[in-house]
Amino acid sequence: ELHNTILELKGNIRVFCRVRPLLPDEVCNTDGKLISYPTSMEAAGRGIDLTQNGQKHAFKFDKVFVPDASQEDVFIEISQLVQSALDGYKVCIFAYGQTGSGKTYTMMGRPGHPEEKGLIPRSLEQIFQTRQSQQPQGWKYEMQVSMLEIYNETIRDLLSTNRSPSDATRQENGTPGKQYAIKHDASGNTHVTDLTVVDVQSVKEVAFLLSQAENSRSVGKTQMNEQSSRSHFVFTLRIYGVNESTDQQVQGILNLIDLAGSERLSKSGSTGDRLKETQAINKSLSSLSDVIFALAKKDDHVPFRNSKLTYLLQPCLGGDSKTLMFVNISPDQSSVGESLCSLRFASRVN
Ligand code: ADP
Ligand code: MG
Repeated sequence: ELHNTILELKGNIRVFCRVRPLLPDEVCNTDGKLISYPTSMEAAGRGIDLTQNGQKHAFKFDKVFVPDASQEDVFIEISQLVQSALDGYKVCIFAYGQTGSGKTYTMMGRPGHPEEKGLIPRSLEQIFQTRQSQQPQGWKYEMQVSMLEIYNETIRDLLSTNRSPSDATRQENGTPGKQYAIKHDASGNTHVTDLTVVDVQSVKEVAFLLSQAENSRSVGKTQMNEQSSRSHFVFTLRIYGVNESTDQQVQGILNLIDLAGSERLSKSGSTGDRLKETQAINKSLSSLSDVIFALAKKDDHVPFRNSKLTYLLQPCLGGDSKTLMFVNISPDQSSVGESLCSLRFASRVN
């Protein structure tokens, strides 16, 4: 049974699957019985098979990254896409998968291990390097960063400087005066009211903002470490380029999104806030899938408005924008069910 993936539909949407290595206490299921994928990066291909209850499911992606794949191996495959943001394209890169599957590792890297930095820091380094190397040709770039979180269909500003833990608590119910309303103008620019947007000149400045955002995420709530996996993290870099000798202008956007964990919670265990969270996550992840498929199929109606996430990113998902989705997979035995769901999400067979 071979599932067609999004990419068979072509367009500007690509899907990469990344299988992370086993963690110390996990049980291997990579003996070829439950999950199989290319054995090395050299042999890396596009296929991944997963067997559940004796039934084998085969999937194909634009690329499959095996557990051996380094952060650099991954970045090499996306550096051109990142570059296109400097050329004026609108780019979205998502990490999708259950909690613990490697989304944050792929996006940010491993804290304290600079050689394992993820694609957000690598993208920024490349962009600021290129910015400098294009100066002799007359190019000048202005860059702006914003970072937000979508939790329970509510936007939270992660760079708001006047935000204290008590603000964060109030924001749960909508901070008075701060609406974070999403507005798109006729030329496809998005404005989120009250959202902090910071001009940046260097990678260092963005790194500082990233740590600030990290802190804002973790003071929000007592069980916050829980919450970061229950919310979508959206990093946005706006790029305005002007060539002073030719008068050319470009406006590009790079959105890097660490999605909420895709795991299904057992229905019986979910009540109250937890149930509300789960419903919000399901809604936004299924809306994202609906939107991407409608775009890939070139449907007339694309249901952007069904969730905050898709509405926020609307101008960056259609038209000539470029989208890449990482489907992150855990290789351990106990994750087979969730892994199958994740692979299916990207192949749209439900
Ligand atoms: P998620 O964000 O999807 O919940 P994480 O990125 O936090 O998952 O990954 C879970 C754990 O696995 C972390 O300890 C992380 O460092 C580790 N990990 C994930 N992917 C890799 C990888 N490709 N190589 C090494 N360690 C990884
Ligand atoms: Mg994470």
